[in-house]
Amino acid sequence: MRGSITGLLTGLAILFHCGSVRAADAADWKVGLAHVKITPEQPIFLWGYGGRNKPFEKVEHDLWAKAMVLEDSEGHRAVIVTTDLLGLPAAISEPICERIEKKTGLKRAQVLINSAHTHTGPFLSLDARERENGMTAGDAERTVEYTRKMQDKIVEVVVQAGKKLEPARLSWGTGVIHFVMNRRVFAPDGVTFGANPRGLADRSVPVLRVDTPEGKLRAVLFGAAVHNTTLRPQHYQICGDYAGFAQLALQEKYPEAQAMFMLGCAGDADPYPHSTMELAREHGNTLAREVGRVLDAKLQPVQGPLKFALAQSDLPLQDPPARAELEKQAASKQRYQAWVAQQMLARLDRGEKLPTTYRCPQAVWQFGTDLTLVGLSGEVVVDYVPLLEKTIGPSRLWVAAYCNDLFGYLPSARILEEGGYETRGLYAGGLGTFTPKAQDELLHTIRQLAVQVGRPMPAVKKP
Ligand SMILES: [Zn+2]
Repeated sequence: MRGSITGLLTGLAILFHCGSVRAADAADWKVGLAHVKITPEQPIFLWGYGGRNKPFEKVEHDLWAKAMVLEDSEGHRAVIVTTDLLGLPAAISEPICERIEKKTGLKRAQVLINSAHTHTGPFLSLDARERENGMTAGDAERTVEYTRKMQDKIVEVVVQAGKKLEPARLSWGTGVIHFVMNRRVFAPDGVTFGANPRGLADRSVPVLRVDTPEGKLRAVLFGAAVHNTTLRPQHYQICGDYAGFAQLALQEKYPEAQAMFMLGCAGDADPYPHSTMELAREHGNTLAREVGRVLDAKLQPVQGPLKFALAQSDLPLQDPPARAELEKQAASKQRYQAWVAQQMLARLDRGEKLPTTYRCPQAVWQFGTDLTLVGLSGEVVVDYVPLLEKTIGPSRLWVAAYCNDLFGYLPSARILEEGGYETRGLYAGGLGTFTPKAQDELLHTIRQLAVQVGRPMPAVKKP
């Protein structure tokens, strides 16, 4: 309510006192922007599909890491980093955040790193051993070298953005795209991959507009909740997929502005249709057109203060199978299941206990009373959008996922019950499969964080 009255007053005032009111609005924020090319300079393996067995062959377009430092009128500062990468496991992202803190003073809670989950981006690893998929020791060394350089570049792009703080106005709105498709198809023998037009999907396109005090566009941060998988395992080109093409199209339309893509709860959504470079470009152009339309529409002003909170949630894992069962699974022809069982057996053989939880970072940022940004980690399925709407209220809410740690899928209790690819559990940073209670734990964490940052919340109903 307060927002709409403020908006009306601002609108009226602009009619009569354009310059002075805009200057008053501008006092609300300072924004600093920087971007850096992260296209690999040497041929290395791509990341996202199991079947690939050689390094990339050409570059369709460059990949980028982009930073937006925000500072409110009270000096609260935080940074959003977007990357055209599959994702950053904690082993890669946490050292970045530690170095950012040393260089800029920004603490962990003030840093949100999102990945577009690009399946035509470089494989990332700090482990230089050769792999069974044809990756030689040389390939692996080049991967580690790339990963380290990429970490340096992300630290540096945040440092640079922090040096360029300039007065800014923020506003936001939401559009819609229609190529977002639920990919869980119910076949007679279980859940499989495909297009499920009756399945839930988040087709919203949240857009944050950053202007100079005079109203000139400086940056746009926009989202979508669909895997960057228009391109498939047969593609050996470096490319940002639809998100890369969308950013390119926006950069062309607004050459003075920085276009940044932030992925939402895309865990069980694929682009539809998919499989060709033409479709990746087409989806990107569709998204860019919609972002352009939202930018031209009447947007909701976003004022401070900026409050941010980050918590590590301990999401419960299922009890592992007994040793005899693990041994059976380790010999299974199903490669992923066999790999998990082998990892578990190796730990047991070393006398280690198997983990009962996975600890992962969750973030909530509050912009005055105008907007709440939830930054979930992992490959979060779309069910969490309505679940979060119910938990912390649906209004003025932006839900991003694939932030800060990429550890695997984060399925809802419903999906765990139904089965399918998204229930396969952790593939980085941990070992195991989530229980349905992980959903309650995650929602509880986000509600606590939302209270902490002062989001206006719906009352909890007593049973
Ligand atoms: Zn994925």
